[in-house]
Amino acid sequence: MNQQYRQALVDAATRVIDSGWYVLGQEVKAFEQEFAAFCGTTQCVGVANGLDALVLTLRAWIEMGRLQEGDEVIVPANTYIASVLAITENRLKPVLVEPDERSFNLCPDKVRAAITPKTKAIVAVHLYGQLAPMKALMAIAQEHALLVLEDSAQAHGASVDGKRAGNWGHASGFSFYPGKNLGALGDAGAMTTNDPELAQTVRALGNYGSHKKYENLYQGLNSRLDEMQATFLRVKLQHLDAETRVRQEIAVAYAQGITNPLVHLPIGPESTLETLASHVFHLFVVRVKQRATFQAHLKAAGIETLIHYPIPPHQQQAYKPYNGLQLPVTEAIHQEVVSLPIGPSMAMGDVRLVIEAVNAFRA
Ligand SMILES: *Cc1c(COP(=O)(O)O)cnc(C)c1O
Repeated sequence: MNQQYRQALVDAATRVIDSGWYVLGQEVKAFEQEFAAFCGTTQCVGVANGLDALVLTLRAWIEMGRLQEGDEVIVPANTYIASVLAITENRLKPVLVEPDERSFNLCPDKVRAAITPKTKAIVAVHLYGQLAPMKALMAIAQEHALLVLEDSAQAHGASVDGKRAGNWGHASGFSFYPGKNLGALGDAGAMTTNDPELAQTVRALGNYGSHKKYENLYQGLNSRLDEMQATFLRVKLQHLDAETRVRQEIAVAYAQGITNPLVHLPIGPESTLETLASHVFHLFVVRVKQRATFQAHLKAAGIETLIHYPIPPHQQQAYKPYNGLQLPVTEAIHQEVVSLPIGPSMAMGDVRLVIEAVNAFRA
């Protein structure tokens, strides 16, 4: 993925090395401005990784008196565990809500049903790159005075009505882990918001709790985006829209080409690039009841598949008190999902090979 940008990345790294300035400098500042502009927000704060972006935003709301220990936070039961870790790390209480079967994302009716007097926030995950139903979720949040934190770690650039991930909720966390749609060459993350006070609080929390050199408002930690990763991200941000377009083209090819009734697709064959702005296809996830034989069949054809994710958070050892929860939709999803190859450097010829192999699968 990075080979085609090699020279630009080397030039950018050289500039940082020669500058002699490696933490909190011009590259981070410039990236924050460029990424805020990309999302359409007024604020962006670089942090060390995507998990920290979520953790520090919730922590900032606690410091600002808008959340307190023990408050309930609604989160999809079907997510990568980091969405839940951010909640429990802050001693808030995750309320795991079943997702919509087709979109894999939160479903407004089920969110509404999960609200109690103790509910204070929603973590809306844009899973696999598809925007959660943000219009409906923001309406519910307004009605019940809830804070909304988007987990946009998989959805850089996904939009509805031209409004992008990161600009729907009261704040959003992004990951720039190398495998994400916008990937650094190491760990990196950011939060976006239109609330300057929140941005300032997150910035201080990620810098030892310091808002001013050697003065500490909070018991913070060290979570900063560094100059080297920021400069790499600036190079790659320029190509993100074009890369997203390739991902969407592959998704349309899959949606139109895969006709095997054993394989349930996340989008219909009527999908076009125009209707797909809300999905940036971090992953192309299909559902297959006979998953193990399907994976073996593709492997024999030289096609690698992965499972995102094999064990839901409530069944992890880390969340023992939740192990007894019955979440049948989430559990069925985790047993049937399998990710087909997709990415900006995938050749269309390879896409056709995948389609042929998928269509040749028999149970
Ligand atoms: C990757 C990811 C995170 C965590 O980001 P890191 O940069 O790896 O810490 C959080 N939420 C989701 C949905 C993710 O996919």
